[in-house]
Amino acid sequence: VSVQDLVEESYKRINAVDDKVGAFLALNEDNARAYAKQLDEALQTKDEFGLLFGMPIGVKDNIVTKDLRTTCSSKILANFDPIYDATVVQKLQSAEAVTIGKLNMDEFAMGSSTENSGLQLTRNPWNLDYVPGGSSGGSAAAVAAGEVPFSLGSDTGGSIRQPAAYCGVVGLKPTYGRVSRYGLVAFASSLDQIGPITNSVEDNAYLLQAISGVDPMDSTSANVDVPDYVSALTGDIKGLKIAVPKEYLGEGVGEAARQSVLDALKVLESLGATWEEVSLPHSKYALATYYLLSSSEASANLSRFDGVRYGYRTDNAENLLEMYKQTRSEGFGNEVKRRIMLGTFALSSGYYDAYYKKAQQVRTLIKEDFESVFENYDVIIGPTTPTPAFKIGEKTDDPLTMYANDILTIPVNLAGVPGISVPCGLANGLPLGLQIIGKHFDESTIYRVAHAFE
Ligand code: GLN
Repeated sequence: VSVQDLVEESYKRINAVDDKVGAFLALNEDNARAYAKQLDEALQTKDEFGLLFGMPIGVKDNIVTKDLRTTCSSKILANFDPIYDATVVQKLQSAEAVTIGKLNMDEFAMGSSTENSGLQLTRNPWNLDYVPGGSSGGSAAAVAAGEVPFSLGSDTGGSIRQPAAYCGVVGLKPTYGRVSRYGLVAFASSLDQIGPITNSVEDNAYLLQAISGVDPMDSTSANVDVPDYVSALTGDIKGLKIAVPKEYLGEGVGEAARQSVLDALKVLESLGATWEEVSLPHSKYALATYYLLSSSEASANLSRFDGVRYGYRTDNAENLLEMYKQTRSEGFGNEVKRRIMLGTFALSSGYYDAYYKKAQQVRTLIKEDFESVFENYDVIIGPTTPTPAFKIGEKTDDPLTMYANDILTIPVNLAGVPGISVPCGLANGLPLGLQIIGKHFDESTIYRVAHAFE
């Protein structure tokens, strides 16, 4: 096949299914076709090819793409065309992947179902009455629906792993600092990471390979060698030591998710691994810690959307202050406003020590929980989510139940370690995910285990 065939295949599939699935916000058709033609011509003359040569890829809409609309699924950015490419997008170009289009998400990545998108509803390809998860719901649904074989998402508290689990695909949140955040519209800067969503672990390893590495444009990217992830897929996990936190199989975790993990552990044992129960004692504080810290950071990061510098500006203002207020009132959706208010409150002078500072201290304890387990074990395993996907509309009236979706993914972001979700059986015809968590910068071991299990 030619690259042009691959790209046409992608657009054909999008035309056939995306009015139902609703994964794509914008298509990059003219540029993608022109680039595919160029790659096909290069096939005749070159003998060295990019790592993702000719591969169609979709990009979450909080990752900026030059001259290609980037909205974060928010009305406040509904007309925003960036003037530069995110580092990961430049890296995709160096790898000769073809950007097919931009993918729907919860507004500014705040949510667990993509129902907070200010622009469009995305449905779960397994059952259109169900949510795809979020906030990278478009990225997971597009891969699950066969519209693109590769996509990029972002994960602040679970937004790659949770939709990957709900849509039955593979999603990895890399170690904090593994992938540059330059050009990722910031939600909570100390937690956000871009990562790959794919059909298989091997594809995932290729995509991570292409986007990893230190970046002078992001001082939080880490100067740590990038290993060859694909060569880690040996199939050999003999002697591997697995920790299973009792908090991840206890209260709040559904029976189907629990059982699917126990079944997975049997498979891993049969391949020569051993497992033991451990404790991450501060897990119960993770949700509160996360919502304090992420909302505080969000309230600061989102102050830049003022009607002057980017996107939407109200028509209904008489003076500057009114213009700021009206623009933000009209441009942001309810969930985003809730986070900004929570964060502004937590950071206000009388409350800083009681909330923000306390949350930072608890974050350290959570990180130390992980470090002490990793002194004796290679990976930590549990469910990705307490239940499979829920119905569209089922949780929209109750933010706290929606937040509780992320109890198993959030601690990983707080600790900064990497985690993957791989498909692990079905419950009521909907996919469940197995979460494999690794040491800082040890994505290779995660991939090795995920690949052996897959
Ligand atoms: N669901 C979580 C939230 O709403 C996580 C989102 C994310 O990872 N971007 O904040």
